[in-house]
Amino acid sequence: MAPSVFDSIADLREAVGAWRKDGLTVALVPTMGALHEGHMALVRAARAHGGRTVVSLFVNPSQFAPDEDFGLYPRNPADDLAKLAEAGVEAAFMPPTNAIYPPGFATTVRVEGVTDGLEGASRPHFFDGVATVVTKLLLQCLPDVALFGEKDYQQLVAVRRLVADLDIPCRIEAAPTVRDDDGLALSSRNAYLSAEERRAAPRLYEVLSWMAAALSEGGTSAEAVANGTAALEGAGFARIDYLAVCNAETLAPVERVTAPARVLAAVWLGETRLIDNVPVIPVG
Ligand code: AMP
Repeated sequence: MAPSVFDSIADLREAVGAWRKDGLTVALVPTMGALHEGHMALVRAARAHGGRTVVSLFVNPSQFAPDEDFGLYPRNPADDLAKLAEAGVEAAFMPPTNAIYPPGFATTVRVEGVTDGLEGASRPHFFDGVATVVTKLLLQCLPDVALFGEKDYQQLVAVRRLVADLDIPCRIEAAPTVRDDDGLALSSRNAYLSAEERRAAPRLYEVLSWMAAALSEGGTSAEAVANGTAALEGAGFARIDYLAVCNAETLAPVERVTAPARVLAAVWLGETRLIDNVPVIPVG
């Protein structure tokens, strides 16, 4: 059955309120639409909770800088709704921009610390936009659980932080990154890649994976990052915004992996910016 489509916060709240009255739990999957298998894995995890699932589809202007791809960002609402129908999702929340940011809107949610480096350093506007919209979506829907992908690992850490700091009564659940057969992490932005760039793109995951293996065997981060940088440059990644080894919870840089860690990267292939990350199992 097709999901009910809500474009107003009041209507969404009324539906969620009715489900709660019936004793049903509510799971929220926030997305910017252009749904792919990575999103659908989150949807399936949400559905596995057994209650009702809300998927929000909102391309959030405040997380794009003026020179970024807000205008170009892929939008396929009809396809998205068909995928959600097939998955058995009960509700799609598709608010217009002025429902989220009405005239006079003047509040920003800022998460400090975990957002300072990595994406935060490369895209200074990004996390304020994400934290503000995620806070709003959580307060609009008031789900029992919200699901986020490890693909955007720093975002996941920031969301966990804001939910704890603002006492938002919602559990945050993570799902592993879904990849194409050749290892490339699925992303709506992969649509920007030319055929040649698409062939080069899986090298990112390959390099991150062997860096993670070297770190698990006791190698230093300095060594892994130096080798990884050379390999990425050799594979045609013209610009590397960052390539780093960080503690999995705090995102503080680590020199040797003695606790769960991640290797995280943002790189450019032509005009397309790709991000990815992999876990590192601590040295035995
Ligand atoms: P987006 O629409 O890009 O804002 O992503 C919405 C949610 O889907 C976020 O929690 C992302 O981390 C997650 N996501 C995006 N791509 C993937 C992927 N390849 N695997 C798992 N989750 C993903």
